[in-house]
Amino acid sequence: MVKAIVGANWGDEGKGKVTDMLARQSDVVIRFQGGANAGHTIINDYGRFALHILPSGIFYPHVTNVIGNGVALDMAKLADELEQVEAQGVPAPRLIVSDRAQLLMPYHVLQDTYEEARLGGRAFGSTKSGIAPFYSDKYAKTGIQVCDLFDEPRLRERLTAAVELKNVLFNHLYHQPGVDVDQLMDQLLTLRERVRPFVGDTVTFVHQAIRENKTVLLEGQLGSMKDPDLGIFPMTTSSHTLAGYGCVGASIPPTAIQDVICVTKAYSSCVGSSTEPFVSEVTGQAGDELRCRGGDRGEFGATTGRPRRVGWFDAVATKYGCMVQGATQVALTCLDVLGYLDEIPVCTGYQMGADTIDTFPTTPALLRAKPVFTTLPGWKQDIRGRTDYSALPDNARAYVDFLEQRIGVPITMVSTGPKREEMAYRTPNL
Ligand code: GDP
Repeated sequence: MVKAIVGANWGDEGKGKVTDMLARQSDVVIRFQGGANAGHTIINDYGRFALHILPSGIFYPHVTNVIGNGVALDMAKLADELEQVEAQGVPAPRLIVSDRAQLLMPYHVLQDTYEEARLGGRAFGSTKSGIAPFYSDKYAKTGIQVCDLFDEPRLRERLTAAVELKNVLFNHLYHQPGVDVDQLMDQLLTLRERVRPFVGDTVTFVHQAIRENKTVLLEGQLGSMKDPDLGIFPMTTSSHTLAGYGCVGASIPPTAIQDVICVTKAYSSCVGSSTEPFVSEVTGQAGDELRCRGGDRGEFGATTGRPRRVGWFDAVATKYGCMVQGATQVALTCLDVLGYLDEIPVCTGYQMGADTIDTFPTTPALLRAKPVFTTLPGWKQDIRGRTDYSALPDNARAYVDFLEQRIGVPITMVSTGPKREEMAYRTPNL
């Protein structure tokens, strides 16, 4: 049984908590895309963690965690994160790192940083973790795989070829010093020893697990809007954020994914450049209030600390986000956050000149879209930590019913707080 847990929106939907819950019931948890550029927040008996690269199953001794071939592997960050979780008392996790994953190099981080500086006001708001240059190199076939670390002549040859190109770019486009192959070799060989115990053939392992009917969880990062093909290009990330990419980035057979759990928040948030279209955005004092009340510590990036832009629930974007994920069920998070409002607007359409649409358009059209809101009554009550769905205030349940109707996918879980047990299970109306 393969399940995927993915985001319907811009990321930060609260996947960490739902993933943590599902990880407990899984045998294998796999990261299949992205790198250490985004983070999950997990609060459990060991404390509060912002995981960036480690799969969420690391807290459970019965779970085998896999860093799949689709991930951008930053070995230094992986080693640091392993040390951090061990320092917080978590037992050494079962972890396999794909020998086919590619390495995120120090020069990817430099390139990302130089390019954002060069773009100035046109910058994408990158986290400068090297993700875009990493995936560019993968598709340009100049990337270096984990397996190359164990064949030093091959590693040196591939590194020399990659550095030759980087140094032309660094010296002549960015007017920055070049990088040195010998120094990089030393760095890589030191880090290799830290990851060596974990490296393995994850493709064979995953297929074997599926044959043995194990419960496998694909853990997505970011959300549909950030997918480079189906998201808001080019304000996207550089790897696919869709459950379907698990078939490539984790080598799952396409027919094996049976359940796609899409996470969405009861309001919207978007991290990235201020030039990104964000139709249902709330600005000014109302926006500041929602941002400060959002999540468990306000809406500020788990990796960057940057304030996130916030907005009302965008039913147009979320319906599309669930559709492209192939969602079979939805987990709605942060319903508790909205308890202070008299009335709650929901974006139910985009006005495009004289027309109102409820399908999600391409970026140039999205930039022109104006939100059409339907306003629902608030419940004016603190529901934090409630677990009995039927005992939630009528208006809170009516709000959830309305969202479910609009997005067209059963909402089965409603999260009422950041902690694992703060979850109300709901019988869908669809
Ligand atoms: P991810 O990027 O989707 O993994 O997002 P995170 O897991 O980092 O979640 C964003 C924030 O929302 C974190 O601070 C969580 O602790 C918090 N959070 C998750 N679910 C809830 C919820 O139901 N209510 C509240 N108040 N906070 C939540």
